[in-house]
Amino acid sequence: MEISHKRWGVNSSGEAIELFRLTNSSGFFVELTNLGATWVSAVMSSGDGSTNNMLLGYESAEGYMNDSYYMGSTVGRFANRIHNASFNIDGVGYLLDKNEGSNSNHGGLSGFHKKVWKWEKLSSGIRFSLFSPDGEGGYPGNVNISVEYLLNENNEFLIHYWGKTDRPTYLNMTNHAYFNLSGDKRKITDHCLQVFSDIILETTPEYIPTGTFTKVAGSPFDFTQTKRIGDSLYSGNEQLRQNRGFNHCYVLKKSSSEEMRQAARLSDPGTNRELIIETDLPGILLYTAGYLPCPDTGVCLETQFFPDTPSHANFPSCLLLPEEEYCHRTLFKFNFKTL
Ligand code: BGC
Repeated sequence: MEISHKRWGVNSSGEAIELFRLTNSSGFFVELTNLGATWVSAVMSSGDGSTNNMLLGYESAEGYMNDSYYMGSTVGRFANRIHNASFNIDGVGYLLDKNEGSNSNHGGLSGFHKKVWKWEKLSSGIRFSLFSPDGEGGYPGNVNISVEYLLNENNEFLIHYWGKTDRPTYLNMTNHAYFNLSGDKRKITDHCLQVFSDIILETTPEYIPTGTFTKVAGSPFDFTQTKRIGDSLYSGNEQLRQNRGFNHCYVLKKSSSEEMRQAARLSDPGTNRELIIETDLPGILLYTAGYLPCPDTGVCLETQFFPDTPSHANFPSCLLLPEEEYCHRTLFKFNFKTL
């Protein structure tokens, strides 16, 4: 494994932004930056000798500094929305940043995606770390975070999230990569998707879960069998119209332990590339990028605890206690589809 890095830029506070590249012996590589602990690229050959980046992103550090779409970034303290930007822990109320109407989205105004993280090279990857002080964004607890990005010789890319707090707090991190396996900017409507789930969380028009679990069978949300995304995306379904496409959290089937389980399988018939995602997290949010300037040109498959978990006692809890460690993994396996 070859690990290289170069200075990519400097932000307005004078902090150095670095670009790292992990390359395996087949030439597959991923790039990462300490700005937002962001996943910048995943580059694979196309079979005819040419190579393409399978992630949407920017060419420069400035692009990431000015980004408002969470392009490839690490999202925290809480991925997705918290209703009314507030929660209670042990009878004490906490008020978070309202950055989407009256709700809080993706950690509010001081989210992890805009922070410059510390970094350390590992034998097969990079570890980014961050300290988030008590009260940041309204969240309790001094929290230490790390995100490790590890690549192996089989084009398997592992993200390992770790966190520790000194007071009970909610923590829910994800990566916000936009995949487009074709390697160009065409719509992802021809991509085929399978999601290993038969249940989504019903949401309000503000994307807040109502608490109802809805079976997908017979609806455009059913990806239990591999299907072209475009077949459902433009099906005329009211919710899909309202949400500008998919923006829904799927409930992953529970394994007997907290082992990794299959979450999703995405493929592009044009290049025959395939991405398989496994995780130990309970949910995966499918977002087809309806709010990008060029809509539907990427697919986000964000493994996470469910949106608005603090408001729902029946959702798997992500309350982190001082005696615990937050420790979660998501694996991205890139390959060519076997015919
Ligand atoms: C959310 C979308 C949002 C996007 C960018 C996704 O995780 O579900 O609603 O538009 O992130 O913020």
